[in-house]
Amino acid sequence: MLDGLSFNLGSTGSEDAAAETEPIERGPRPEIENVIIVGSGPAGWSAAIYTARANLRPLLITGNDLGGQIALTTEVENFPGFESIQGPELVERMQRQAERFDTEVLIDYVTEIDVNGPPFTVKTAGGQEFKTKGLVVATGASPRRLGVPGEEPLTGRGVSYCATCDGFFFRNKDVMVIGGGDSALQEALFLTKFASRVRIVHRRDQLRAGATLQRRAKENPKIEFVWNTVVTSINGQNKVESVTLRDLVTGETHDTPTDGVFVYIGHLPNNQLFLDKLEMDEEGYLITDKLMRTSVPGIFAAGEIQDHRFKQAATSAGQGVAAAMEVEKYLADLEDRTYPGREETYTAVELAA
Ligand code: NAP
Repeated sequence: MLDGLSFNLGSTGSEDAAAETEPIERGPRPEIENVIIVGSGPAGWSAAIYTARANLRPLLITGNDLGGQIALTTEVENFPGFESIQGPELVERMQRQAERFDTEVLIDYVTEIDVNGPPFTVKTAGGQEFKTKGLVVATGASPRRLGVPGEEPLTGRGVSYCATCDGFFFRNKDVMVIGGGDSALQEALFLTKFASRVRIVHRRDQLRAGATLQRRAKENPKIEFVWNTVVTSINGQNKVESVTLRDLVTGETHDTPTDGVFVYIGHLPNNQLFLDKLEMDEEGYLITDKLMRTSVPGIFAAGEIQDHRFKQAATSAGQGVAAAMEVEKYLADLEDRTYPGREETYTAVELAA
């Protein structure tokens, strides 16, 4: 436990696994950490499990949104080993597994990272400061906003980015879901459990989502599609009362009454800590090579902070594993130890173009 801040998600399921896990007696933290993992989504937890099992005693700093995006997801049906599992339970299992192998978990938010190292300096909102030889960045991505009038003031008053969190409040109500990808359709389907009517507003006449979700959504009697249409404003005094929609084919705009707006139009990488410090592509994703190395030796990145293509919980988890294995090798070379089975020495390579 770190300054009393070790975190447990509580009992949202899997009591069987909890019963098997004995609390670990952890000694004092080293003056310089081996590895700090920033972020608590699938990439972060996977990196923690692997670095912990390599006896590196990782420190994982959760960030504000414990579990990242997958914790806001309802049903996950494509994470290998689980035919169906709720997002929060998957995160809970990952955390428990990481802590079982001696990961220290700190619920805090990183405010600053000095990348001139190693050691790198990590400062948190809680006023703590750490030095670390290695760093795994797994800060993920956050929902993209529509950027229309009314969106910000009505967030939490009918505008939502999380059907899992807020769907319950829309029992027998009319809601709109914005977007045409997997998230929009999956969460629209979830919302049909509560809402009386779910309209999916998409800017094109073809969905980006996969075939299975498309079929389920099209077959669901509560779901309707509004094609070739964008939201130009969200209206209401203290809660959402209507949205203004523009038909991109006819150019016409009209106000349509609704009670809720769920926005699923993609994500933006959480890169604020690394602006002008680590190399990024034009969309703001960290650039990594095949070994998950960023432009600064000793700093690795995994998951959606560096992946704008696959964006799956399973691929993020895999990237977290790869980053962990490489940070282990990096630390071994840093300390001039022989790494079993590998003879080559770590050197910073030119990043792939
Ligand atoms: P996404 O695949 O990027 O889809 C975003 C959707 O929002 C697209 O339909 C896009 O329209 C639309 N959009 C983007 N900007 C917009 C704007 N300014 N105004 C209106 N519409 C806008 O994002 P996602 O659905 O969040 O999925 C992210 C990743 O997670 C994907 O790789 C997805 O496969 C994965 N995922 C998988 C599952 C699953 O397998 N069950 C569930 C959730 C997410 P266009 O189509 O016209 O570009």
